[in-house]
Amino acid sequence: MTDHASSARGFDSLAVHAGQEFDPTTGAVIPPVHFSSTYAQDGIGGLRGGYEYGRSGNPTRTALERQIAAIEGGVHGLSFASGLAAEDALLRAALQPGDEVLLGNDVYGGTYRLIARILGPWGVGLRVVDMSDLAQVEAALAERPAKIVWVETPSNPLLRVTDIAGLARLGHEAGAIVVVDNTFASPALQQPLPLGADVVVHSTTKYLGGHSDVIGGALVIADDALAEKARFLQFAAGAVSGPLDAWLTTRGIKTLAVRMQRHCENAQQIAEVLEGHNKVARVYYPGLPSHPGHELAARQMSAFGGIVTLDLGDGASARRFAESTRLFTLAESLGGVESLVNYPDEMTHASVRGTELAVPESVVRLSVGIESVDDLVADLEQALAAL
Ligand SMILES: *Cc1c(COP(=O)(O)O)cnc(C)c1O
Repeated sequence: MTDHASSARGFDSLAVHAGQEFDPTTGAVIPPVHFSSTYAQDGIGGLRGGYEYGRSGNPTRTALERQIAAIEGGVHGLSFASGLAAEDALLRAALQPGDEVLLGNDVYGGTYRLIARILGPWGVGLRVVDMSDLAQVEAALAERPAKIVWVETPSNPLLRVTDIAGLARLGHEAGAIVVVDNTFASPALQQPLPLGADVVVHSTTKYLGGHSDVIGGALVIADDALAEKARFLQFAAGAVSGPLDAWLTTRGIKTLAVRMQRHCENAQQIAEVLEGHNKVARVYYPGLPSHPGHELAARQMSAFGGIVTLDLGDGASARRFAESTRLFTLAESLGGVESLVNYPDEMTHASVRGTELAVPESVVRLSVGIESVDDLVADLEQALAAL
Protein backbone atom coordinates (compact mmCIF):
# COMPACT_ATOMS: atom_id res chain seq x y z
CA MET A 1 0.00 0.00 0.00
CA THR A 2 1.41 3.38 -0.92
CA ASP A 3 1.61 5.85 1.90
CA HIS A 4 1.05 9.28 0.41
CA ALA A 5 -0.40 10.79 3.55
CA SER A 6 1.98 10.06 6.41
CA SER A 7 1.65 12.92 8.88
CA ALA A 8 5.40 13.52 8.51
CA ARG A 9 4.79 14.84 5.00
CA GLY A 10 4.66 18.49 4.10
CA PHE A 11 1.52 20.61 3.92
CA ASP A 12 1.15 20.43 0.13
CA SER A 13 1.47 16.63 0.14
CA LEU A 14 -1.13 16.29 2.88
CA ALA A 15 -3.52 18.63 1.05
CA VAL A 16 -3.35 16.41 -2.04
CA HIS A 17 -3.28 13.00 -0.36
CA ALA A 18 -4.64 12.90 3.19
CA GLY A 19 -7.86 10.88 3.23
CA GLN A 20 -7.62 10.45 -0.56
CA GLU A 21 -6.39 6.85 -0.97
CA PHE A 22 -7.31 5.30 -4.32
CA ASP A 23 -10.37 3.06 -4.44
CA PRO A 24 -9.25 -0.46 -3.41
CA THR A 25 -11.85 -2.27 -5.54
CA THR A 26 -11.31 -0.49 -8.88
CA GLY A 27 -8.01 1.33 -8.48
CA ALA A 28 -9.71 4.64 -9.30
CA VAL A 29 -7.12 7.23 -8.32
CA ILE A 30 -9.84 9.67 -7.31
CA PRO A 31 -12.05 8.06 -4.65
CA PRO A 32 -15.66 7.83 -5.85
CA VAL A 33 -18.42 10.10 -4.54
CA HIS A 34 -20.61 7.95 -2.29
CA PHE A 35 -24.23 9.01 -2.74
CA SER A 36 -25.81 6.07 -0.94
CA SER A 37 -27.95 7.08 2.05
CA THR A 38 -27.82 3.61 3.61
CA TYR A 39 -25.46 0.61 3.81
CA ALA A 40 -26.04 -3.14 3.54
CA GLN A 41 -25.44 -5.09 6.74
CA ASP A 42 -24.04 -8.64 6.83
CA GLY A 43 -26.47 -9.76 9.51
CA ILE A 44 -27.92 -7.30 12.01
CA GLY A 45 -25.21 -4.88 13.07
CA GLY A 46 -22.70 -6.43 10.64
CA LEU A 47 -21.29 -3.25 9.10
CA ARG A 48 -18.67 -3.57 6.38
CA GLY A 49 -16.84 -0.27 6.81
CA GLY A 50 -18.45 1.15 9.93
CA TYR A 51 -21.12 2.89 7.83
CA GLU A 52 -24.84 2.37 8.41
CA TYR A 53 -26.70 5.57 7.48
CA GLY A 54 -25.55 8.74 5.71
CA ARG A 55 -26.26 11.19 8.51
CA SER A 56 -24.02 9.32 10.94
CA GLY A 57 -21.27 8.73 8.39
CA ASN A 58 -20.49 8.81 4.68
CA PRO A 59 -17.14 7.75 3.13
CA THR A 60 -16.84 10.91 1.01
CA ARG A 61 -17.38 13.03 4.08
CA THR A 62 -14.89 10.94 6.06
CA ALA A 63 -12.30 11.53 3.32
CA LEU A 64 -12.82 15.30 3.61
CA GLU A 65 -12.74 15.19 7.42
CA ARG A 66 -9.40 13.38 7.39
CA GLN A 67 -8.00 15.79 4.81
CA ILE A 68 -9.02 18.90 6.80
CA ALA A 69 -7.73 17.48 10.09
CA ALA A 70 -4.37 16.68 8.45
CA ILE A 71 -3.86 20.14 6.94
CA GLU A 72 -4.71 21.83 10.25
CA GLY A 73 -2.26 19.61 12.14
CA GLY A 74 -5.16 18.15 14.18
CA VAL A 75 -6.73 14.79 14.82
CA HIS A 76 -10.50 15.23 14.78
CA GLY A 77 -12.04 16.79 11.65
CA LEU A 78 -15.80 17.29 11.29
CA SER A 79 -17.55 18.53 8.17
CA PHE A 80 -20.87 20.41 8.12
CA ALA A 81 -23.41 21.86 5.71
CA SER A 82 -22.12 25.42 6.27
CA GLY A 83 -19.65 27.38 8.37
CA LEU A 84 -22.47 28.48 10.66
CA ALA A 85 -23.71 24.90 11.05
CA ALA A 86 -20.19 23.97 12.21
CA GLU A 87 -20.16 26.90 14.65
CA ASP A 88 -23.61 26.00 15.97
CA ALA A 89 -22.57 22.38 16.61
CA LEU A 90 -19.41 23.49 18.41
CA LEU A 91 -21.20 26.07 20.55
CA ARG A 92 -23.95 23.68 21.58
CA ALA A 93 -21.43 20.93 22.30
CA ALA A 94 -19.30 23.17 24.51
CA LEU A 95 -21.80 25.48 26.23
CA GLN A 96 -24.56 25.23 28.79
CA PRO A 97 -27.08 27.87 29.86
CA GLY A 98 -25.28 30.43 32.01
CA ASP A 99 -21.98 30.11 30.15
CA GLU A 100 -20.41 33.07 28.37
CA VAL A 101 -18.53 33.55 25.13
CA LEU A 102 -15.84 36.20 24.84
CA LEU A 103 -15.88 37.25 21.20
CA GLY A 104 -13.56 39.34 19.05
CA ASN A 105 -15.07 42.70 18.12
CA ASP A 106 -14.87 42.24 14.35
CA VAL A 107 -15.74 38.60 13.90
CA TYR A 108 -17.98 37.44 11.08
CA GLY A 109 -21.40 39.04 11.60
CA GLY A 110 -23.19 35.70 11.38
CA THR A 111 -21.16 34.38 14.33
CA TYR A 112 -22.27 37.31 16.45
CA ARG A 113 -25.88 36.88 15.27
CA LEU A 114 -25.85 33.13 16.05
CA ILE A 115 -24.61 33.66 19.60
CA ALA A 116 -26.60 36.82 20.36
CA ARG A 117 -29.92 35.92 18.76
CA ILE A 118 -30.13 32.12 18.72
CA LEU A 119 -28.08 31.00 21.75
CA GLY A 120 -28.76 34.17 23.77
CA PRO A 121 -32.43 33.31 24.39
CA TRP A 122 -31.26 29.85 25.59
CA GLY A 123 -29.18 31.50 28.30
CA VAL A 124 -25.75 31.93 26.71
CA GLY A 125 -24.01 35.23 27.48
CA LEU A 126 -21.79 37.24 25.16
CA ARG A 127 -19.09 39.83 25.70
CA VAL A 128 -17.06 41.53 23.00
CA VAL A 129 -13.44 42.77 23.15
CA ASP A 130 -10.66 43.74 20.75
CA MET A 131 -8.76 40.42 20.72
CA SER A 132 -5.72 41.99 19.07
CA ASP A 133 -5.17 43.78 22.42
CA LEU A 134 -4.32 40.96 24.85
CA ALA A 135 -4.49 43.36 27.82
CA GLN A 136 -8.20 43.82 27.08
CA VAL A 137 -8.67 40.05 26.94
CA GLU A 138 -6.85 39.56 30.23
CA ALA A 139 -8.94 42.25 31.93
CA ALA A 140 -12.19 40.81 30.59
CA LEU A 141 -11.31 37.29 31.79
CA ALA A 142 -10.21 38.60 35.20
CA GLU A 143 -13.53 40.37 35.60
CA ARG A 144 -15.52 37.20 34.88
CA PRO A 145 -14.53 33.85 33.35
CA ALA A 146 -15.73 32.81 29.90
CA LYS A 147 -16.29 29.26 28.70
CA ILE A 148 -15.16 30.07 25.17
CA VAL A 149 -12.73 32.67 23.80
CA TRP A 150 -13.42 33.11 20.07
CA VAL A 151 -11.18 34.97 17.68
CA GLU A 152 -10.84 35.58 13.96
CA THR A 153 -7.34 36.51 12.81
CA PRO A 154 -6.86 38.27 10.49
CA SER A 155 -10.32 39.65 11.25
CA ASN A 156 -13.14 40.69 8.97
CA PRO A 157 -13.02 43.22 7.43
CA LEU A 158 -10.38 45.32 9.23
CA LEU A 159 -7.74 42.55 9.24
CA ARG A 160 -6.70 42.99 12.85
CA VAL A 161 -4.11 40.39 13.83
CA THR A 162 -4.25 38.54 17.15
CA ASP A 163 -1.38 36.66 18.80
CA ILE A 164 -2.86 33.14 18.85
CA ALA A 165 -0.24 31.63 21.17
CA GLY A 166 -0.64 34.53 23.64
CA LEU A 167 -4.43 34.32 23.49
CA ALA A 168 -4.34 30.55 24.05
CA ARG A 169 -2.17 31.05 27.12
CA LEU A 170 -4.55 33.65 28.60
CA GLY A 171 -7.62 31.61 27.71
CA HIS A 172 -6.24 28.43 29.24
CA GLU A 173 -5.19 30.19 32.45
CA ALA A 174 -8.83 31.25 32.78
CA GLY A 175 -10.13 27.74 31.98
CA ALA A 176 -11.62 28.70 28.61
CA ILE A 177 -11.75 26.81 25.31
CA VAL A 178 -9.87 28.85 22.70
CA VAL A 179 -11.47 28.83 19.26
CA VAL A 180 -9.90 30.31 16.12
CA ASP A 181 -11.97 30.92 13.00
CA ASN A 182 -9.21 30.28 10.45
CA THR A 183 -11.33 31.01 7.37
CA PHE A 184 -9.41 34.14 6.31
CA ALA A 185 -5.87 32.78 6.58
CA SER A 186 -6.55 29.13 5.73
CA PRO A 187 -4.20 26.45 7.06
CA ALA A 188 -1.89 27.10 4.11
CA LEU A 189 -0.85 30.34 5.86
CA GLN A 190 -1.56 29.74 9.56
CA GLN A 191 -2.19 26.72 11.79
CA PRO A 192 -3.78 27.66 15.12
CA LEU A 193 -3.75 24.20 16.78
CA PRO A 194 0.07 23.88 16.92
CA LEU A 195 0.06 27.45 18.34
CA GLY A 196 -2.09 26.27 21.26
CA ALA A 197 -5.69 26.82 20.15
CA ASP A 198 -8.23 24.11 21.04
CA VAL A 199 -10.55 24.33 18.05
CA VAL A 200 -10.29 25.59 14.48
CA VAL A 201 -13.47 26.67 12.70
CA HIS A 202 -13.82 27.03 8.93
CA SER A 203 -16.28 28.30 6.46
CA THR A 204 -15.03 25.93 3.75
CA THR A 205 -17.24 27.98 1.43
CA LYS A 206 -14.29 30.38 1.17
CA TYR A 207 -10.63 29.45 0.49
CA LEU A 208 -10.84 25.70 1.14
CA GLY A 209 -13.56 25.17 -1.47
CA GLY A 210 -11.95 28.01 -3.35
CA HIS A 211 -14.22 28.22 -6.41
CA SER A 212 -17.40 29.83 -5.06
CA ASP A 213 -19.43 26.76 -5.93
CA VAL A 214 -20.14 25.08 -2.59
CA ILE A 215 -21.33 26.04 0.92
CA GLY A 216 -19.68 24.15 3.76
CA GLY A 217 -18.06 24.33 7.17
CA ALA A 218 -15.66 22.37 9.31
CA LEU A 219 -14.28 21.97 12.81
CA VAL A 220 -10.90 20.59 13.78
CA ILE A 221 -10.79 19.78 17.48
CA ALA A 222 -7.77 18.85 19.59
CA ASP A 223 -9.50 17.43 22.66
CA ASP A 224 -10.97 13.91 22.35
CA ALA A 225 -13.91 14.50 24.71
CA LEU A 226 -14.98 17.79 23.06
CA ALA A 227 -14.61 16.18 19.62
CA GLU A 228 -16.85 13.32 20.71
CA LYS A 229 -19.52 15.76 21.92
CA ALA A 230 -19.36 17.74 18.67
CA ARG A 231 -19.54 14.55 16.61
CA PHE A 232 -22.60 13.46 18.59
CA LEU A 233 -24.21 16.83 17.82
CA GLN A 234 -23.29 16.49 14.15
CA PHE A 235 -25.10 13.13 14.12
CA ALA A 236 -27.99 13.99 16.42
CA ALA A 237 -28.83 17.42 14.94
CA GLY A 238 -27.79 16.43 11.42
CA ALA A 239 -26.29 19.53 9.76
CA VAL A 240 -23.86 17.34 7.79
CA SER A 241 -22.33 18.15 4.42
CA GLY A 242 -23.78 16.24 1.49
CA PRO A 243 -21.55 13.91 -0.54
CA LEU A 244 -21.16 16.15 -3.59
CA ASP A 245 -20.45 19.21 -1.42
CA ALA A 246 -17.86 17.22 0.52
CA TRP A 247 -16.24 16.03 -2.70
CA LEU A 248 -16.09 19.53 -4.23
CA THR A 249 -14.45 20.79 -1.05
CA THR A 250 -11.94 17.96 -1.14
CA ARG A 251 -11.06 18.86 -4.72
CA GLY A 252 -10.65 22.51 -3.78
CA ILE A 253 -8.29 21.73 -0.89
CA LYS A 254 -5.89 19.89 -3.20
CA THR A 255 -4.98 23.21 -4.89
CA LEU A 256 -5.22 25.39 -1.76
CA ALA A 257 -1.50 26.01 -1.37
CA VAL A 258 -0.89 27.16 -4.95
CA ARG A 259 -4.05 29.26 -5.00
CA MET A 260 -3.10 30.97 -1.72
CA GLN A 261 0.32 31.80 -3.07
CA ARG A 262 -1.23 33.71 -6.00
CA HIS A 263 -3.96 35.30 -3.84
CA CYS A 264 -1.24 36.63 -1.53
CA GLU A 265 1.04 37.90 -4.33
CA ASN A 266 -1.84 39.72 -6.03
CA ALA A 267 -3.15 41.17 -2.76
CA GLN A 268 0.30 42.42 -1.74
CA GLN A 269 0.79 44.18 -5.06
CA ILE A 270 -2.66 45.77 -4.95
CA ALA A 271 -2.14 46.94 -1.37
CA GLU A 272 1.21 48.52 -2.29
CA VAL A 273 -0.19 50.27 -5.37
CA LEU A 274 -3.24 51.65 -3.53
CA GLU A 275 -1.43 52.78 -0.39
CA GLY A 276 -0.62 56.37 -1.17
CA HIS A 277 -3.23 56.69 -3.95
CA ASN A 278 -4.79 60.13 -3.53
CA LYS A 279 -8.39 58.80 -3.45
CA VAL A 280 -7.63 56.12 -0.81
CA ALA A 281 -7.67 57.28 2.82
CA ARG A 282 -6.24 54.03 4.17
CA VAL A 283 -5.32 50.52 3.06
CA TYR A 284 -5.73 47.69 5.56
CA TYR A 285 -3.46 44.78 4.65
CA PRO A 286 -1.22 42.85 7.10
CA GLY A 287 1.51 42.64 4.45
CA LEU A 288 2.07 46.42 4.58
CA PRO A 289 4.66 47.61 7.11
CA SER A 290 2.19 50.39 8.02
CA HIS A 291 -0.32 47.80 9.30
CA PRO A 292 -0.29 47.63 13.13
CA GLY A 293 -0.29 43.81 13.04
CA HIS A 294 2.41 43.49 10.37
CA GLU A 295 5.24 42.13 12.53
CA LEU A 296 3.01 39.70 14.38
CA ALA A 297 1.49 38.49 11.10
CA ALA A 298 4.99 38.00 9.68
CA ARG A 299 5.80 35.71 12.62
CA GLN A 300 2.48 33.90 12.84
CA MET A 301 1.59 33.49 9.16
CA SER A 302 3.62 32.26 6.19
CA ALA A 303 2.08 35.00 4.00
CA PHE A 304 -0.48 37.78 4.50
CA GLY A 305 -3.64 36.55 2.78
CA GLY A 306 -5.87 37.55 -0.10
CA ILE A 307 -8.14 40.16 1.51
CA VAL A 308 -7.46 43.88 1.18
CA THR A 309 -9.73 46.45 2.81
CA LEU A 310 -9.86 50.08 1.66
CA ASP A 311 -11.11 53.17 3.45
CA LEU A 312 -12.35 55.61 0.82
CA GLY A 313 -13.00 58.50 3.18
CA ASP A 314 -16.80 58.50 3.25
CA GLY A 315 -19.77 56.23 2.66
CA ALA A 316 -20.80 57.74 -0.69
CA SER A 317 -17.33 57.21 -2.18
CA ALA A 318 -17.15 53.65 -0.86
CA ARG A 319 -20.55 52.80 -2.37
CA ARG A 320 -19.69 54.41 -5.71
CA PHE A 321 -16.36 52.58 -5.86
CA ALA A 322 -17.99 49.20 -5.08
CA GLU A 323 -20.43 49.78 -7.93
CA SER A 324 -17.77 50.90 -10.42
CA THR A 325 -15.42 47.93 -10.70
CA ARG A 326 -15.69 45.69 -13.77
CA LEU A 327 -13.36 42.74 -13.21
CA PHE A 328 -14.05 42.70 -9.45
CA THR A 329 -17.65 41.47 -9.15
CA LEU A 330 -19.88 43.15 -6.56
CA ALA A 331 -20.86 40.21 -4.36
CA GLU A 332 -20.76 38.84 -0.83
CA SER A 333 -18.35 36.08 0.17
CA LEU A 334 -14.63 35.71 -0.49
CA GLY A 335 -11.89 33.20 -1.11
CA GLY A 336 -12.76 32.14 -4.65
CA VAL A 337 -10.46 32.28 -7.66
CA GLU A 338 -12.39 35.30 -8.98
CA SER A 339 -12.01 38.76 -7.47
CA LEU A 340 -14.95 40.21 -5.54
CA VAL A 341 -15.73 43.61 -4.06
CA ASN A 342 -18.04 43.92 -1.05
CA TYR A 343 -19.58 46.91 0.74
CA PRO A 344 -19.68 45.50 4.31
CA ASP A 345 -22.00 48.09 5.88
CA GLU A 346 -24.92 47.04 3.68
CA MET A 347 -23.82 43.57 2.58
CA THR A 348 -21.81 41.11 4.69
CA HIS A 349 -22.03 43.16 7.87
CA ALA A 350 -25.59 44.48 7.58
CA SER A 351 -26.61 42.21 10.47
CA VAL A 352 -24.23 43.99 12.86
CA ARG A 353 -25.15 47.56 11.87
CA GLY A 354 -25.70 49.65 14.96
CA THR A 355 -24.05 47.04 17.24
CA GLU A 356 -20.59 47.09 18.80
CA LEU A 357 -19.40 45.16 15.71
CA ALA A 358 -20.50 47.75 13.16
CA VAL A 359 -18.07 48.42 10.29
CA PRO A 360 -17.25 52.00 9.15
CA GLU A 361 -19.42 53.00 6.18
CA SER A 362 -16.36 54.35 4.35
CA VAL A 363 -14.88 50.86 3.95
CA VAL A 364 -14.90 48.36 1.06
CA ARG A 365 -13.46 44.85 1.20
CA LEU A 366 -11.69 43.24 -1.72
CA SER A 367 -11.35 39.49 -2.07
CA VAL A 368 -8.41 39.42 -4.44
CA GLY A 369 -8.60 36.53 -6.89
CA ILE A 370 -5.96 34.76 -8.94
CA GLU A 371 -6.44 36.71 -12.20
CA SER A 372 -3.62 38.64 -13.91
CA VAL A 373 -2.63 41.26 -11.39
CA ASP A 374 -2.19 44.02 -14.00
CA ASP A 375 -5.84 43.62 -14.96
CA LEU A 376 -6.91 43.79 -11.32
CA VAL A 377 -4.87 46.93 -10.64
CA ALA A 378 -6.19 48.59 -13.81
CA ASP A 379 -9.76 47.82 -12.77
CA LEU A 380 -9.30 49.33 -9.30
CA GLU A 381 -7.62 52.40 -10.76
CA GLN A 382 -10.48 53.03 -13.20
CA ALA A 383 -12.99 52.68 -10.33
CA LEU A 384 -10.98 55.16 -8.24
CA ALA A 385 -10.82 57.56 -11.18
CA ALA A 386 -14.64 57.57 -11.21
CA LEU A 387 -14.77 59.02 -7.66
C1 LIG B 1 -18.44 33.05 5.64
C2 LIG B 1 -17.88 32.98 6.99
C3 LIG B 1 -18.50 32.24 8.01
C4 LIG B 1 -19.83 31.56 7.82
O1 LIG B 1 -19.73 30.49 6.95
P1 LIG B 1 -20.94 30.00 5.98
O2 LIG B 1 -20.30 28.92 5.18
O3 LIG B 1 -21.39 31.18 5.19
O4 LIG B 1 -22.02 29.50 6.89
C5 LIG B 1 -17.86 32.18 9.24
N1 LIG B 1 -16.69 32.81 9.46
C6 LIG B 1 -16.08 33.54 8.50
C7 LIG B 1 -14.80 34.22 8.81
C8 LIG B 1 -16.65 33.64 7.25
O5 LIG B 1 -16.04 34.40 6.31
